[in-house]
Amino acid sequence: MNILVINSGSSSIKYKLFKMPQKKLLTKGVIEHIGEEGSDIQDHYTGLKLILSKVNSVDAVGHRVVHGAESFKKPALINPLVIRKIRQCCAIAPLHNPANLAGILACNKLLAGIKQVAVFDTAFHQSLPDYAYIYGLPYEYYTKLCIRKYGFHGTSHEYVAHEAARLLKSPINKLKLITCHLGNGSSITAVDRGKSIDTSMGFTPLEGLVMGTRCGDVDPALITHIMKKKKLDIAAMNTLLNRESGLKGISGISNDVRILEEKSKLGNKRARLALEIFIYRIKKYIGAYTGIMSGCDALVFTGGIGENQKRVRGKIIRGLFSHLKKKPKILIIPTNEELMIAKQTYLLING
Ligand code: ADP
Repeated sequence: MNILVINSGSSSIKYKLFKMPQKKLLTKGVIEHIGEEGSDIQDHYTGLKLILSKVNSVDAVGHRVVHGAESFKKPALINPLVIRKIRQCCAIAPLHNPANLAGILACNKLLAGIKQVAVFDTAFHQSLPDYAYIYGLPYEYYTKLCIRKYGFHGTSHEYVAHEAARLLKSPINKLKLITCHLGNGSSITAVDRGKSIDTSMGFTPLEGLVMGTRCGDVDPALITHIMKKKKLDIAAMNTLLNRESGLKGISGISNDVRILEEKSKLGNKRARLALEIFIYRIKKYIGAYTGIMSGCDALVFTGGIGENQKRVRGKIIRGLFSHLKKKPKILIIPTNEELMIAKQTYLLING
């Protein structure tokens, strides 16, 4: 069965075609500049039409959908009700869900009769207990405005957790794992016996670690203080926190760890500081998650930094578990969110 995996963003569509259940990648590609000035591809429908002209015999489609809120605890076969619920989630994921939905609607038109499945970034974290996902705000903000921790990168955390169990030759329901997805966007998850019980990203992907350009955890009182001091409106403040902060903001050089490593070796103090802050925050989360699980069998690294930056990994681990009698195994597992989406699509369709 050929499964087309679609990751539809605001101006791009990434795709991979897998032969399942053999997990064989048949083809992949990306369509960019959708809707941009001068582009031939003015909408997702045209983009998908182009993709479908390049891929043969699609039997089913798996879509990455960023936000499923509390409506989706697992992948869902797409139907009008599912589409309505994904649309409702646009209110709390305005940057992602509309683009994901555009991909689904285009496929509906172009591949009528072919089964489509939505796989949600938030679904794996729906197992968090309420004391981990409720913020210290008036409770009505949760019940009336859906404000709570959702967590993201769920498909990646779930994939590497299962891969870790496979490598350790142990059933996942016997393992305490901490999965570190470290890329431009970064998050850490405590996976207790196969279930996500806490994760560093929150209501949005801004919470938690210091990332490429995102600030991660800050004192919330800073937001209004900075807006007042710098006379920033909501859009400008959002840009500051999401695009001008993190490694880029601290170093004043780049969001790319490779460049910061190079500059740091040459003696650049702010590049060194940015990396130290990045690593320190990661250590804090790992320490906290080891604590709440009363131990950790394996620490898993994935994502561009987690997979490739040996020095950064080394600094994260240094001294981290010296107090533990049983030291966690350290695993480096390349993530494959698209394969996970193909697997989940295959499983849902074939029972
Ligand atoms: P995204 O979150 O956008 O998918 P990536 O997972 O590609 O990002 O991670 C980007 C980060 O990973 C950058 O900081 C970069 O320095 C680092 N990185 C990616 N590939 C490599 C590599 N081959 N060697 C070293 N670092 C890498």
